[in-house]
Amino acid sequence: MKQLTKDQFDSLLQTAVIRPKIRREVRFANVAQLDEATWLHTEVLAVPDRSGNKGVLLLKATENALYVASYELKRGMTSSTGKAQPIICDFCRTWQTGTRAGSITLDKPGRANGSVTFLCCADLACSQHVRSLTSAARTSRSQLREDMTNEERIARLEQRINELAQVVELVAYTGEYANTEK
Ligand SMILES: [Zn+2]
Repeated sequence: MKQLTKDQFDSLLQTAVIRPKIRREVRFANVAQLDEATWLHTEVLAVPDRSGNKGVLLLKATENALYVASYELKRGMTSSTGKAQPIICDFCRTWQTGTRAGSITLDKPGRANGSVTFLCCADLACSQHVRSLTSAARTSRSQLREDMTNEERIARLEQRINELAQVVELVAYTGEYANTEK
């Protein structure tokens, strides 16, 4: 996705109708250190609040458009017998052990429209997992015996984002944020 400035992020939050509490508490400073190249190689970017468990999730819709949703993250996945439960991330399809697994609840746009919960990588580093930059990615490759290139995984992640965004009824935003400032 394209790099956002703080101002562009703020105007996106207004446009996307994010819950006021999340809008107040989200900390853009948590992602402000990322450089332009990192933004370009990121399809899923969490901008958390101070707790790290809630915030605003940015998802790449197209080269010039983003989905935006407030989220709440739960880390760790246990079965009914209390054992750590491995999952496959709904976004990047990475197999994760129970301790690295999580679930993310995305609010539908607007008030009182409900929310949808997906399984996810607890670190939300899906963009790095599909590029095989993590040990979790290597573990997943051997667990799932997958034979795909990184490019194919990136394309699959982009497709999954669009499918999941439809489920949550997210709107893709272009507009002012696309006019990158110096
Ligand atoms: Zn993932």
